[in-house]
Amino acid sequence: SKQNTPPLLVSACLCNLYCRYNGEKIVNDAVLDLMRQNRVLPVCPEQLGGLPTPRPPSERLGDKVVDPDGNDLTEAFRRGARETLTLAQTCNCRRAVLKARSPSCGANVIYDGTFTGKRVSGDGVTAELLKANGIEVMTEEEL
Ligand code: SF4
Repeated sequence: SKQNTPPLLVSACLCNLYCRYNGEKIVNDAVLDLMRQNRVLPVCPEQLGGLPTPRPPSERLGDKVVDPDGNDLTEAFRRGARETLTLAQTCNCRRAVLKARSPSCGANVIYDGTFTGKRVSGDGVTAELLKANGIEVMTEEEL
C-alpha cells in the first residue's frame, strides 16, 4: 500500500532548509510537491557529520575532502555519510535525490578539488556510500 512505500531520501538543502555551505536556500517545486505528499525524508550529511552552517566550501581531492585553506574535513564527511546510510536503511529507502555536484551529495559529476569550478567524474562521499549499499541515487537535475 502507499502507506508502506518507503520515502525518497532527499538532500535537505533541496527541501527549503538552511544547511548549504553558503547559507543560501533552494526552492525546488518538484521536491516541495513530493514533500507535501509525505514522500520525502530530508537529510543533510554535512550537518550530520557535525559541520556548521554556513561553512567554507569544500571539494573532494582524491580520497580526502578539503576546504580552500587545505583543512582536511574527511572525517566529518565520512561520519555524515555513515549517519545518512543508517537513516536510509532504517527507513528502508531504495532511492535518493541528492544535490548535484556536492562533495557529499553529488552523483556522477563533482568538482575536482582545485576550487576553480572544474568538473570531473565522481561521486560525493555520501552518494558513493549509498550507491555501494544498493540505494539508487539521482540528482535533482534528473528529477
Ligand atoms: Fe547538506 Fe548535501 Fe545539501 Fe550539502 S548538498 S547542504 S551536504 S544536503
